[in-house]
Parts: sequence; C-alpha cells; structure tokens
Amino acid sequence: MIGEYENSLCPTCGGPLQKQVSAIPFLLKQNAIVVVKGVPAEVCADCHEPFLAGQAVDRVSEILRQLRILSSEVSVIAYPEAVVA
Ligand SMILES: [Zn+2]
Repeated sequence: MIGEYENSLCPTCGGPLQKQVSAIPFLLKQNAIVVVKGVPAEVCADCHEPFLAGQAVDRVSEILRQLRILSSEVSVIAYPEAVVA
C-alpha cells in the first residue's frame, strides 16, 4: 500500500482521504519554514494529515531546493499553478 494513496485510506489513522488544495508548511532547515500555498494534496478527513500526490512531491521538492539559498526564516509561496496537470 505504500505509495498508493489514491482513492485510499489514511496510512496514519485509516480515515478517508479527500483531494483538496492545501497550504502546507515544510521545515526547510533549522528555524526556517516554507509554507507552500495551493498544493494539490489528499488530506485525511479524520487526522487532517496531508499527503502529496506524486507530481506535487517533485514540484515542492524543487521549490524547497531553490529556497535553500534564501536566508528568510519564514517564506510563503504559491504552488506554480500553471504547471499543474
Ligand atoms: Zn488520518
């Protein structure tokens, strides 16, 4: 079941996953947090844990990689909507 969250149940608590667009915080490094808005994710209806779909993982990883050169402690950026398939 690992990696197959589509139309599935929450791996954490077994609750139903719902597709939605979320703002998700990521810990970049010590004391640095990036909030990515508008990320397509599946969110557990019970524990509200967000799970990213495959392509979103790649997009967010790239965003976080680029942001590592910034010294900002808290960044809020928008998920690049134009590239959402
Ligand atoms: Zn859950």
